[in-house]
Amino acid sequence: MTVNLLDFDRQGLTEFCEGLGEKKFRATQLFRWIHHKGARDFEQMSDLAKSLRDKLKTCAHITPLSPISLHESADGTLKWLFDVGDGNAVETVFIPEDDRGTLCVSSQAGCAVGCRFCSTGHQGFSRNLSTGEIVAQLWFAEHFLRQRLGSQERVISNVVMMGMGEPLQNYSALVPALRTMLDDHAYGLSRRRLTVSTSGVVPMMDRLGEDCPVALAVSLHAPADSLRDSLVPLNRKYPLAELMAACQRYLAHAPRDFITFEYCMLDGVNDQPEHAQALIDLVRPQQGPGVSCKFNLIPFNPFPASGLKRSAQAQVLAFAEILQRAGLVTTVRKTRGDDIDAACGQLAGDVKDRTDVASRMARQRVIPLRATPP
Ligand code: SAH
Ligand code: SF4
Repeated sequence: MTVNLLDFDRQGLTEFCEGLGEKKFRATQLFRWIHHKGARDFEQMSDLAKSLRDKLKTCAHITPLSPISLHESADGTLKWLFDVGDGNAVETVFIPEDDRGTLCVSSQAGCAVGCRFCSTGHQGFSRNLSTGEIVAQLWFAEHFLRQRLGSQERVISNVVMMGMGEPLQNYSALVPALRTMLDDHAYGLSRRRLTVSTSGVVPMMDRLGEDCPVALAVSLHAPADSLRDSLVPLNRKYPLAELMAACQRYLAHAPRDFITFEYCMLDGVNDQPEHAQALIDLVRPQQGPGVSCKFNLIPFNPFPASGLKRSAQAQVLAFAEILQRAGLVTTVRKTRGDDIDAACGQLAGDVKDRTDVASRMARQRVIPLRATPP
């Protein structure tokens, strides 16, 4: 069986090349061809010796994910649906802004955490993505966008692991993928512009801090264990006191001096003034150290099976004001890609339900897919 070179970070590729009797610098050349230039065909790699190209052809391949569809929102947001086999699909979303281009990347097909307000969670868990499948989302989007914009420069400046899945429940595949994203010979992202979002897998937060510190977002959604238990079932395993302590420990390694707390605003459930006050007490307790943090309030993106409603805009703003008055930096997330179901928590990606995909495509502007980028 031949190996997919997208599965390797540079260290892994170096070991692979050494196994072929090649010098270390050859691995860097190869890594640059794959990630920097978006090459898939070994014959293109003109500065590699013919003997190495021939060897690679027999034992390796560069296989990205196959896109099923690409939708473009009126606000410029792009959403790809990628086939990952066995009737599963994952979604990847590109969000262009004036000063940055952000790619929202999936880490699993489905998710085992099962949060009440998340359509991926309702879908259940199918499987972990491999390193190559995580990296392939960035590989594909970056080279697609460069080709579309006629740009030689990097288009994607930020990556958020906020697509489908709980990244810290797929840790061994995640870390080499993050390292590739950070590598100057690949995508050259800064650690501050690469964000892992977690529902709070405490032991893996510690390991991430040691192995590959990047910006961290923690999906909080409730200020007390009783409510959080019912919204984020993982809280029963890692309750808030443990989660807050893990956040403090992470800050010793983090490239930013704050944790971003995400808070999905659910009408009548977690959006009352007393919840805001309890959040302030949680992150700034009277005794003991607090957690240096920012809040990002996410208006809930409804989907029928949830039985939940989005908080009214006035409620969201009043909630934000309570946090801000207490000196906590708070932003309200703009919902992007609403018209193509690309907003947070709307990523379902079940290709078994072809009718649903077809009916969605009928309502949306679907861009015919071009061939795989170079
Ligand atoms: N599993 C990780 C990352 C993926 S979810 C996590 O939970 O952090 C990315 C973000 O979208 C999380 O903050 C999640 O809570 C939020 N989210 C999920 N469903 C949502 C929905 N229906 N509306 C708004 N935000 C949602
Ligand atoms: Fe999984 Fe995150 Fe959705 Fe919860 S919010 S079910 S952890 S993807």
